[in-house]
Amino acid sequence: MAEKICVAVRLRPPISHETSSGTFWRVEDNRISLHKLHGTPISGISYAFDYVFDETCSNGKVYELLTKDVIHAAVDGFNGTAFAYGQTSSGKTFTMNGSPNNPGIIHRSVNDIFQKIQMISDREFLIRVSYMEIYNEEINDLFAVQNHKLQIHESLERGIFVAGLREEIVSNAEQVIKLIESGEVNRHFGETNMNARSSRSHTIFRMVIESKGIDSRPFGDYSSSDSIRVSVLNLVDLAGSERIAKTGADGVRLKEGKYINKSLMVLGNVINKLSNGAKQRAHIPYRDSKLTRILQTALGGNAKTSIICTLAPEEVHVEETKGTLLFASRAKRITNCAQVNEIMTDAALLKRQQLEIEELRRKLQGSRSEVLEQEILKLRNDMLKYELEREKLEMELEEERRSHKEREQHIRDQQLKIENLSSLVSDGDRSSSQDSRKESPKDDCNDRGDDFKTPCFKAAGNAFIAMRSNNSQLPDFSPLPDSFSNVADEDTWFKMNKGYIADLDSLQMTSARKVQSFPPQDIAPDCSNDNYKEELQNLKRQLELVIEEKNKLERKHEEETQLNGRLMVERCELKQELDASKNMLEASKESYGSLEREFQLLKEERDSLQKSLSESSQKLMVVTNQKENILKDLNSEVQRRKDLEAEIKQFSVAFASRHRSLASIHGEFKSKIEKMRAENPVPLHKSLQY
Ligand code: ADP
Ligand code: MG
Repeated sequence: MAEKICVAVRLRPPISHETSSGTFWRVEDNRISLHKLHGTPISGISYAFDYVFDETCSNGKVYELLTKDVIHAAVDGFNGTAFAYGQTSSGKTFTMNGSPNNPGIIHRSVNDIFQKIQMISDREFLIRVSYMEIYNEEINDLFAVQNHKLQIHESLERGIFVAGLREEIVSNAEQVIKLIESGEVNRHFGETNMNARSSRSHTIFRMVIESKGIDSRPFGDYSSSDSIRVSVLNLVDLAGSERIAKTGADGVRLKEGKYINKSLMVLGNVINKLSNGAKQRAHIPYRDSKLTRILQTALGGNAKTSIICTLAPEEVHVEETKGTLLFASRAKRITNCAQVNEIMTDAALLKRQQLEIEELRRKLQGSRSEVLEQEILKLRNDMLKYELEREKLEMELEEERRSHKEREQHIRDQQLKIENLSSLVSDGDRSSSQDSRKESPKDDCNDRGDDFKTPCFKAAGNAFIAMRSNNSQLPDFSPLPDSFSNVADEDTWFKMNKGYIADLDSLQMTSARKVQSFPPQDIAPDCSNDNYKEELQNLKRQLELVIEEKNKLERKHEEETQLNGRLMVERCELKQELDASKNMLEASKESYGSLEREFQLLKEERDSLQKSLSESSQKLMVVTNQKENILKDLNSEVQRRKDLEAEIKQFSVAFASRHRSLASIHGEFKSKIEKMRAENPVPLHKSLQY
């Protein structure tokens, strides 16, 4: 669906406290206008945008209103771009990177993306990041300083991409922030008298978000209907758009300034053309600068884009601010057409592999340690590195093949030329011998009879031109940067910012292909004998030169062929390495599998142990209860015994006293009997009876 680019401007707080003597910028709702000091608006200088943020606005609010939708759409599979445009010290870096306690759009986007994907439970994600700068029209890798002067390529599967740029697979926001911080160190800063530390390069932070739906099918069972969403998110901090004269630069700085202006000028030009509507959109000069080529999809293509133009409020910057506002108002007219990017699984084999690993990681989560996770991440990054290296080599090989073909074509051209010349010379020889026979040779070579037709220089020249036109196609880009860097000066820039549309196409010249040409000479044939001989000599010399050059080229070709061979060998070696790492990956997958099985066994063992433990503890409880009951019985028995003993004691005491009283009664009784016997003696037989 076609939609307009979202454009906002942001006025930063004044840095110097100089009081304005003439004009000031006023922000009302989504409109910004220039006013005279006493308040009257200056006519014609009033612009409305999607948002106008005044100096009190925080980075959080800018993110919420301007960029959040683009970021969320990127998670859903739409390409997205957010970039900051404006003069040096107007607040681009403050907006994109922020400060320690006020994070900018990049940090907020990264956090938001990871938060959002955590909430999406029915898709799995794979995120890669890269960070590059364009400095003096050269692309450098901010994650790997050794990767510089990188080239832009385009392929069906990957779209427009920077070959050889390091990409890191990341799994959380903190990791990304750390990577960005390490990349920041590599940015180029320079000193100008506008701002002590102003950025002289464009930086592009790029995230590639891949995702795939999780379904109920068993792991590894992919069908051809599976698709992977791939979206690219660019967060761009442009270099200052100020005019060169203001920076007071010279020497190296001047060159930087020119390049920066050139890149931004092409950006301005692309935006002009896009904003002019469909009629004039036939040729958009994206290829005229690295910046516009990289941002091609973001500008008038398949992407959701938001632009923030930062403004310095000080009166001294009023001209630059007007330029920025003009740029912003043109950008507002651009229409993009964003759609979800889906790739069928078959076309994304590597991505499927990566998702397999992701699946494995997910399975292992919760069962085994973080160490495994780290290892998987490392393996995945290694795989990516190999893929990127292979890609780079393939590019180089492709390049080599192309130049090889060109060289072959060149040699064929040369051979044709030699043949032409040889026939010319032999015909020349024939005609000169004929001349000696003829009395009055005719001047006009075209008038010669068929038998004596000498291929004159005109004809040879024509033949050569015909060859050339076959091979000299129009380049599909302007002859930049060399020819353009001479005109990308302050005046042109100034004119453009005043509303003048610099048409770069008018600067395009059909650059003549550099074709081997002969030393200049007067080629009109003079058929007088001496001249003719002299000419013949010349031709012979030229022929020798050409043959010599041909030999040289053949030698060079031989060398290149050898180099090709070496490159092929290197490629094979790399392929072998890649295979080895794939095998390693396979092996580690297997070991993960066996580890998981082992873990399963251990878990089962632990479960059965736990079961028997709970059984025996139940038994123990029963026994303990029984023991307690017995103990209670025993205690009561002991008590009873004690009671009995006490009773026995009492009884024996009572018994003893009874015994004693009986004994005393017995004694008394006995003594009474004794006494009675003594008193009443009885006969013996009676006494015996008794
Ligand atoms: P640029 O990247 O455009 O050259 P900077 O982002 O470096 O500019 O901003 C220049 C100075 O202004 C910095 O010190 C920055 O902290 C400050 N600044 C910029 N914008 C704001 C803002 N909106 N609020 C507070 N300070 C700001
Ligand atoms: Mg900056």
